[in-house]
Amino acid sequence: MKKVLSSLMLCAAFGASAHQDTEQPKNIIMIVGDGMGPAYTAAYRYFKDNPDTQAVEQTVFDRILVGRSTTYPAKVSGIVTDSAASGTALATGYKSYNGAIGVDVNETPVKSVMHYAKTLGKSTGLVVTSQINHATPASYVAHAKSRRMYNEIADQYFDIKIDGKHAVDVMLGGGWQYFIRDDRDLTKEFQQAGYQYIDSYSDLNTINNNQVLGLFADKGLPWALDDTNRHRLKAMTVAAIDRLDNNDNGFFMLIEGSQIDWGGHANDVAAAMTEMDDLAVTVEWLEGYVANNPDTLVVMTADHSTGGFTIGANGEYAWRPQLIHSMKASPEAISKAQAKLEKLDTQAINAQLGFELTKQEIVLLLPAHKTTRDGSDRKAKRALATALKTIISARTNTGWTTSGHTGVDVPVFAFGRQQSLFAGQIDNTDIAKKIFTLLGKK
Ligand SMILES: [Zn+2]
Repeated sequence: MKKVLSSLMLCAAFGASAHQDTEQPKNIIMIVGDGMGPAYTAAYRYFKDNPDTQAVEQTVFDRILVGRSTTYPAKVSGIVTDSAASGTALATGYKSYNGAIGVDVNETPVKSVMHYAKTLGKSTGLVVTSQINHATPASYVAHAKSRRMYNEIADQYFDIKIDGKHAVDVMLGGGWQYFIRDDRDLTKEFQQAGYQYIDSYSDLNTINNNQVLGLFADKGLPWALDDTNRHRLKAMTVAAIDRLDNNDNGFFMLIEGSQIDWGGHANDVAAAMTEMDDLAVTVEWLEGYVANNPDTLVVMTADHSTGGFTIGANGEYAWRPQLIHSMKASPEAISKAQAKLEKLDTQAINAQLGFELTKQEIVLLLPAHKTTRDGSDRKAKRALATALKTIISARTNTGWTTSGHTGVDVPVFAFGRQQSLFAGQIDNTDIAKKIFTLLGKK
């Protein structure tokens, strides 16, 4: 009898390893493309399309798509979510009000999958292109009534302890302004607690500590379009996983392409597409990681869509993103440089854009340049960048309906162990609930 039993158990064990998809993933990587509604992943396909072939080539986003998610917040905030409510939904499984960070509609703190993973002895990480205490990452780490409580949220990154340990082992992104303050220098406090601290991309390959804080900008990182490394999200991800990977219990990490959303808010198609490209190469690298580490699950979605981004506008059946490839700087950066000059330097602008402005376009820019130079309020200061973006939207035939968010459903992507769990039409809270289940019982 004993023999029969043990061989039965052996069968069960073999059965499990033959059907690996029924096993718990050791590592879970959650990715948020902030603002990355369906128009963004479709646009990226045409932006990347090889013009020398008849076919429209598939992108990594096409390859790993599994479903679609609703994004609406708690009823009290209506239908259109912000990144705090949706971040909280993705991190904790609770729908909350717009602005809520890791708290429910009654402002009661709720547990995140990141905190839970820590209680299971996993390593934890977050890699973002915004400041690391921005709404989405903050929802995984902190609890605050309002996303605007940036300093309090930063403090919690150090002060919150999970079973006596800090909540996040590897943190990479921006945020000097909030972590190095007159009243508190959290970079010092983290170092005293045994963390390595780095503050430039070139230090990413010098990380020799499994606990590290890396801050590379005052707030968000520069636009990918203006940054010294246009693929900085990938560089940070590779460096983070190198450290997180050293734990036999596995790891949970959040990766955010934070500034896709900012491109949407700014109605800047060039910024949005180059942020998408940074995310795409990051996910392509992760495909290789999962091929070598099949006990890993990667789940990706957007928290909402931004800008009402439209592929083809103005009644014209066309979208022409190719000119973005030649751009060497963002409209914002070009405008900032021009604002210092008394006279508009169109040659310099042409060089930065990588295409020649027409006479009519220059006529548009001249008064905008004057407004930017003379202007005292924010809107006036942005006049030249706005005019440049209007030109780029017109040339590419890109449409925008809002400077805010929209309520469309967003794509869901997954690959690796248990990826099929995320298929079909789901809700953003389901993503957290499924991750809690996959992390397993304590
Ligand atoms: Zn946003």
